Amino acid sequence: MARLVVVSNRVGVPDRSTRAGGLEVAIGPTLRRRGGLWFGWSGRVADGDPDPTKIADHDNVTYATIDLRKDDHQEFYNGFANRVLWPILHYRLDLAEFTRRDLGGYFRVNEFFARHLEKLLKPDDTIWVHDYHLIPLAKALRERGHANKIGFFIHIPFPPPEIVTALPNHDQLIPALCHYDLVGFQTEVDATNFSRYIANECGLSWAAGNAFHYGNRVVTIGTFPVGVETEAFSRLARRAIETTFVRDVLDSLSGRAMIIGVDRLDYSKGIPERMSAFERFLANFPDWRGKVTYLQITPRSRTDIAEYADIGRLVGEAVGRINGTYGEASWTPLRYINKAHSRTALAGLYRAARAGLVTPLRDGMNLVAKEFVAAQNPDDPGVLILSRFAGAAHECAAALLVNPYDPEGVAIAINRALAMPLEERRQRHAATYKVLVANDLSHWAERFMAALERPPNAANDWTQVRAAGIG
Ligand code: UDP
Repeated sequence: MARLVVVSNRVGVPDRSTRAGGLEVAIGPTLRRRGGLWFGWSGRVADGDPDPTKIADHDNVTYATIDLRKDDHQEFYNGFANRVLWPILHYRLDLAEFTRRDLGGYFRVNEFFARHLEKLLKPDDTIWVHDYHLIPLAKALRERGHANKIGFFIHIPFPPPEIVTALPNHDQLIPALCHYDLVGFQTEVDATNFSRYIANECGLSWAAGNAFHYGNRVVTIGTFPVGVETEAFSRLARRAIETTFVRDVLDSLSGRAMIIGVDRLDYSKGIPERMSAFERFLANFPDWRGKVTYLQITPRSRTDIAEYADIGRLVGEAVGRINGTYGEASWTPLRYINKAHSRTALAGLYRAARAGLVTPLRDGMNLVAKEFVAAQNPDDPGVLILSRFAGAAHECAAALLVNPYDPEGVAIAINRALAMPLEERRQRHAATYKVLVANDLSHWAERFMAALERPPNAANDWTQVRAAGIG
């Protein structure tokens, strides 16, 4: 079996003091079983020229990390990746701040990754590249003569070509994805959007449903929704609800119902819109006043980008307004906390909540939604209120699906969730839980790898795939 080489923007070298990150949990077992290499940025910014690649071996996996130069980090990471690609791929053209300089930095860092990675590559390695920071990496490797199988998975949305084409120089960037053997998306919608881009902008035909010819290469498109460790998370929640921390929170509610929201402070998460919906709920359903508390846990992220400070200010103002208008000396309607919480604490809080409010304006998947369902007590479950624009909405169709741009509609859904009869709650929960067990996180990496390594003839009816005549 070929060695697996994983490339991601950030690499967390395991150590005993920190919990494994999401990607580590997802691909760690596959890497360890096959033997592997994980390559990427160390998270450090070097003052001058970066040190050579650092190598650390753990448990059948080699971790190879490189530092980034200050200007590279600024232009590649803070600049093009997070100020241009992140907003545009989340459908927020209005927030993109494009500069050619940052685009240059983005390509330069991808070249830098390719240059350092190739020193570690073997010809029969299978390479799996992750996320929007590294779109041109396969092209950079191909130009250096590497013919390995290379797959790409994008963890965030891929919007329709009508939006992607507003990205200046998209024609230099997006077609670079055709240098991968497999391009994986979270949902069918994302995959279809990419297919439409390829057909409209590159003139490629994709007759066999999920594959097209790019010169003499065949590129396959696939859908691989990321899951959570559903059953393990359920067990964790059962224990976590008994912890002192969760008991203290519950005691502090004095018997009131709890609604929970958990999101990084990011404009894609729709937090100000959600606050407006909660405000509307308190205005339109006055019987609930004094009987429900909304706990919003929101760790700050990307603090050196102005839009993130703006969204923090907006949310802070909304919290003050709502608590000022509706609060009583004995009741605070909305508790807003910027501290990050452990997985155990979150699991217990989800289980203790009557409703989970997950209303991103756009989200690749949204794992909080899936964790909330996994954490519920099946005999007396809380209700998930979920944005139809989260990737998770496809698997969580039995949740109360809402339009996050419609605060009155979300307010009605909050009332409905809190008043929902037990039998309906159980049915909705059981339906979603079943789907989330079937598409558990442990299957995700294996499914992607199987699709990447499958011989083309077994995967598709290639006779239907027409060559597009690109050299
Ligand atoms: N999370 C956490 N502590 C916090 C807030 C969030 O561990 O205080 C975790 C959360 O449980 C989930 C992940 O961070 O697993 C967030 O993933 P999601 O897909 O919901 O959003 P992202 O931040 O990746 O956009």
